[in-house]
Amino acid sequence: MGLRSKVFYERALKVIPGGVNSPVRACRAVKGEPIFFEKGEGAYLIDVDGNRYLDYVCSWGPLILGHAHPEVIAGIYFASKKGTSFGAPTWLEVELAELIKSCIPSIEKLRLVNSGTEATMSAIRLARAYTGRKKIIKFEGCYHGHVDSLLVKAGSGLATFGIPASPGIPEELTAHTLNLPFNDFEAVKKAFETYGREVAGVIVEPVPGNMGVVLPKESFLEFLREITQKYEALLIFDEVITGFRLGLSGAQGRYNISPDLTCLGKIIGGGLPVGAYGGKEEIMNLVAPEGPVYQAGTLSGNPIAVSAGLATLKELLKPGTYEKLEKVSHFLEEELKEVLKSLGLSYRISRAGSMLTLFFTEKEVINFETALSCDTEKFALFWQGMLKEGIYLPPSQFEAWFISLAHKEEDINQTIKAVYKVLKEIG
Ligand SMILES: *Cc1c(COP(=O)(O)O)cnc(C)c1O
Repeated sequence: MGLRSKVFYERALKVIPGGVNSPVRACRAVKGEPIFFEKGEGAYLIDVDGNRYLDYVCSWGPLILGHAHPEVIAGIYFASKKGTSFGAPTWLEVELAELIKSCIPSIEKLRLVNSGTEATMSAIRLARAYTGRKKIIKFEGCYHGHVDSLLVKAGSGLATFGIPASPGIPEELTAHTLNLPFNDFEAVKKAFETYGREVAGVIVEPVPGNMGVVLPKESFLEFLREITQKYEALLIFDEVITGFRLGLSGAQGRYNISPDLTCLGKIIGGGLPVGAYGGKEEIMNLVAPEGPVYQAGTLSGNPIAVSAGLATLKELLKPGTYEKLEKVSHFLEEELKEVLKSLGLSYRISRAGSMLTLFFTEKEVINFETALSCDTEKFALFWQGMLKEGIYLPPSQFEAWFISLAHKEEDINQTIKAVYKVLKEIG
């Protein structure tokens, strides 16, 4: 780590808990220290010491166009010249809402918020209000933001209710949250058999990215759609990562499933704070002031943030963008496989579109438990080694690498050379 980063980190530690405003940035899982960045350019980041890195974090997903895309910067610039916030509607919000609706058929109406956390929190409240039920099913290893009732550890057996994963959350607030293994048909069936008519909804990352990338088993998402319908519970897709990442209509388009509610974030803000939740009109009409379910935000639909999102989505709407992303991402996956093969390593690579994880395990990763079989010590060495080679990977084994439209074939070649060198050293 550079000297100036070190100095800023020391100052930060005195005024900000852990020196960071979101925990994973502290790089503790990889025995590192945070790097302070000065700017981003396309697929690259430049830190305060002038070091340049190829970036696979991409702000944890939002920057699908890469850093400082000219259209996004122009959108921000022109919007900001007209004022930063009005606390009243602007036409930009309508444009963004219309654009999202036109891409994602299950969304008939939506509400803009400021983060993914706000989106999931509001969707849960709405699902409970709509069904008049309390219980929520989620899956281990899926992350839905730091909503109290969704920050749960699994209870001691299947179909037992979650215990808080953080101090400061009363058991009462997680007492209605069931935490089940992802991809486990039986566990879901049992939960519904036991609590069926008490379940307000199932919330799921359709392609989880927060335990590393895990693919849903064949027909698992269809099964969730069917069983929620059978028990008249809502199916909530948390597409905060996958929305506009796996295609214009997200994971639901890719797997052809129509959830009742969808949560969005990350890409729809183009690097500024925007989230959204939306779905069937009948359900969304319960939201205030149309209906009784309260949800509000001083800066919701902020014109500058919305402009960044609009500019991003408009770029994504251009023909061939997702094909281009797929091509580069596929190339990265294939080359990684070649490297592993040539070194006689059988680590697992999991990829959906432009999100990818190299799992340091020989087991197939299908849920949180199998993800935990990874050698995180080795991953830490790998992360450190890659950083020395100028490649900035997510500082945790349990995260997705994001590929952007700014990543070029020569960037992938550079990455592969580094992976070969580092894996050869650490084994
Ligand atoms: C990032 C993320 C969230 C939380 O979004 P924030 O904007 O960080 O609050 C929720 N769900 C998923 C799937 C996410 O990846």
